[in-house]
Amino acid sequence: MTSDQPEHARTGSEITRTGSGPAPTGTDVVLEARGVTKHFPLRRTARDLFARERRSVHAVDDVSLRLRRGTVTALVGESGSGKSTVARLLAQLYPLTSGEIRLGGEPVVAGRGRSFRRYARRVQLIFQDPFASLNPVHTVRYHLTRALKIHGRAGSGEKELEENLAALLNRVQLTPPQQFLDKFPHELSGGQRQRVAIARALGADPQVLLADEPVSMLDVSIRLGVLNLLRDLKERLHLAILYITHDIASARYFADTTLVMYAGRIVEGGDSERVTQHPAHPYTQLLIASAPDPDRIVADEEQEESGTGEPPSLITPPAGCRFHPRCPQAMERCRTELPPRFELPEGQWAACWLYDGAAANGTDPVADRTAVKEATR
Ligand code: SF4
Repeated sequence: MTSDQPEHARTGSEITRTGSGPAPTGTDVVLEARGVTKHFPLRRTARDLFARERRSVHAVDDVSLRLRRGTVTALVGESGSGKSTVARLLAQLYPLTSGEIRLGGEPVVAGRGRSFRRYARRVQLIFQDPFASLNPVHTVRYHLTRALKIHGRAGSGEKELEENLAALLNRVQLTPPQQFLDKFPHELSGGQRQRVAIARALGADPQVLLADEPVSMLDVSIRLGVLNLLRDLKERLHLAILYITHDIASARYFADTTLVMYAGRIVEGGDSERVTQHPAHPYTQLLIASAPDPDRIVADEEQEESGTGEPPSLITPPAGCRFHPRCPQAMERCRTELPPRFELPEGQWAACWLYDGAAANGTDPVADRTAVKEATR
């Protein structure tokens, strides 16, 4: 390997950035979803025999997003909103019902075998449960060696392999590496197991990490350490990270951009600080009002104002805006017309009829609405 090769082409022992490559701009799109839709057909029952159409779960509908080099994008939503399905679609674990995924600007459909491995070399998925994602009968050494070998990064001999294994463990701050290499998953803490899972993903030398609720099964005390590790990887390796979470507070802390998903659709997006401090969509407001915050004692009344109720069935999702059965601000048109994406100041956007025509009047409708709410409290 030569020093002028891109970092993602090097072996594990060489992955410390030397500064010789071009500095990332933070704007280059690595992975993109365009209008991605996934419907899972249901098994036919006797009741369906005479039905014209086969019923299906509308898990993801018309999702578009871009993951940029050196940035974290959070995809936030409650359980069943379809965010994990988006991660699996981006990882090409499921075929799309419609839409397109582009890697480095090129449309991709990873099949099986070699073409899937080529794709996985650039896009890696980290699962929520590190214990389930590691084989309990194999050691850390086995998991990491296998990843390096599959992706052709094991090196040319024993010595190089050992160096690459040590580099991976150093990269995820499991040091000294010799202390962890021959341990089994059950001998590690939850946080250490998730670090091994991250090291295994790094064994492919990816450009994109899809982290599906990477800290939700960890003790609260060690979540921050794993998030800080992911942030360190973003900065040092310039990875594009999709951070899937139901915890909007952690998105503010960790992500550059936040997208909010409800019932299979993305309903709001923008800079994380802006989305979490000035949420535009009533569903985002509900998520924030529901998040535990020691600085803010939420009165029942405020919770009511933000909305209540359960997520809808995705087999027969509500017509119009899918949030309308729960939305305290729903209007007549919300029940029949699907709101498009309305652009708001500072790069924020929301798919909500409340902002129809907002761009035309030149004010900040989100700040205005917040101010009215504060004044009338
Ligand atoms: Fe509520 Fe209507 Fe906006 Fe949907 S479009 S969030 S129902 S106001």
